[in-house]
Amino acid sequence: MTDTTRPLAAQARDILLSLGIAADRIAGGPLRVVSPVDGSLLAEAATVSAGEARERIGRAHDAFLEWRSIPAPRRGELVRLLGEELRRHKDALGRLVSLEVGKSPSEGLGEVQEMIDICDFAVGLSRQLYGLVIQSERAEHKLTEQWHPVGVVGVISAFNFPVAVWCWNAALAFVCGDAVVWKPSEKTPLTALAVQALFERAASTFGGVPAGLSTLLVGGRDVGEILVDDPRVPVVSATGSTRMGREVGERLARRFARPILELGGNNASIVTPSADLDLTLRAVAFGAMGTAGQRCTTLRRLIVHESVRGALVSRLIGVYETISVGDPLTSDALVGPLIDEAAFTGMARALDAARAVGGKVHGGERVNVNGPGSFYVRPALVEMPGQVGPVIEETFAPILYVLTYRTLDEAIALQNGVPQGLSSSIFATDIREIERFLSARGSDCGIANVNMGPSGAEIGGAFGGEKETGGGRESGSDAWKAYMRRQTNAINYGRTLPLAQGVKFNVDGGSAQA
Ligand code: NAD
Repeated sequence: MTDTTRPLAAQARDILLSLGIAADRIAGGPLRVVSPVDGSLLAEAATVSAGEARERIGRAHDAFLEWRSIPAPRRGELVRLLGEELRRHKDALGRLVSLEVGKSPSEGLGEVQEMIDICDFAVGLSRQLYGLVIQSERAEHKLTEQWHPVGVVGVISAFNFPVAVWCWNAALAFVCGDAVVWKPSEKTPLTALAVQALFERAASTFGGVPAGLSTLLVGGRDVGEILVDDPRVPVVSATGSTRMGREVGERLARRFARPILELGGNNASIVTPSADLDLTLRAVAFGAMGTAGQRCTTLRRLIVHESVRGALVSRLIGVYETISVGDPLTSDALVGPLIDEAAFTGMARALDAARAVGGKVHGGERVNVNGPGSFYVRPALVEMPGQVGPVIEETFAPILYVLTYRTLDEAIALQNGVPQGLSSSIFATDIREIERFLSARGSDCGIANVNMGPSGAEIGGAFGGEKETGGGRESGSDAWKAYMRRQTNAINYGRTLPLAQGVKFNVDGGSAQA
């Protein structure tokens, strides 16, 4: 158990050394890792050179060539063992997530639980990965579809879910027969090192895992670009800002690699006249302020019917004024720190822009919790005259813009009237309103919820969004298909050669149809 009274750097070091990570990988390196909790230096992590990165990708490719021949249920056993390691080290890894990202202990543990859940899901999947048998139009022919391992899967992850995103991709990729090369956020290399160590433990229990099957590349954007450009990597799953996704997507398109893009959101909830306002209030508070507004699915726009706006917004302002902001490790505060100064500056800039177009801002001021090196803020609720200015952008901070509507058509148009398309929700008890929102003419997002906020997805469903969110899907449902290549097989078990669509090509002039 980690001694939580020790300085944060010592706690991080204790956890990493206990997992067998060599001291020189976290000291004296060029990558300064700072805890958002108090601004203290946690570690100086080693990074990979360009040459080393390419060598490791090569080793991952070699590992894939072996791994693809192992039966899928046996591959599932490796993921089962990974899940066991995660269960065994849940407290330590959850703590490290809290130290490195500033999440509350409950959210840090929740992130590890999400990894465990997707491992369980992938183990079941390893006995499925079904193909199809399709009716053939030709006599004595069979048409089938099967799925094969695709190759090395590159994973580029964002700071805010530093380990769960890797597992959403990697657990599926391993059972699908792929190798994985991971470029974590440069803000969160320590949790990545810990996860790689847990993978290596699982691999050693399994025995005979090809070296390089799971490979870590610690470094910045330049290292990410090496992964994106490498022709030995047929699939790249990139999670982060839309700016990053645009660059990565264009580079992948140039070499016809498959992108799985999981980018920024600008998520809205519609509150109708039939909504249960008590439930709505609680859901909005978690959706907009949980994880200090630093989830891709954070609630950023509240679209409220004019008849309930007064009652809801006055209560919400009360919650915003009193919600506890503080150190997530030493208090029960519900709102922890922003990741860094750039996040705080971005928030202040967005609030100024909102004021400039007539927004009325409640909250949003900096709160001194642990001195000048850390950035805590009171979440901001902004009453807007319309969907203008910063409202159409994603600011990765706890800002909730409130808009008003008269008709449901108008509300849905506002909800869909932004470039992003990740998550959405409606608060209503009227079935017509709910079904209209879920219909083809309703929400245009990858996720549409009812009577809950847009965040906090379960792993069983496919996760991702449309438009500038990138179109990728990962995690549950049939998202596994993106980690395999599809092959169609036509098999002739007869003695003639009928051609599809009745085409004739008789080289012998006889009665054969080909
Ligand atoms: P970011 O875009 O700054 O960085 C994400 C990752 O991309 C990092 O590992 C970074 O090194 C890498 N990167 C940046 N530019 C690159 C390039 N040109 N080539 C290759 N790699 C590159 O994002 P962030 O600040 O870490 O995370 C916050 C953003 O991530 C928000 O926009 C949030 O909505 C989004 N996000 C989306 C999802 C989702 O599933 N849709 C999940 C989590 C976070």
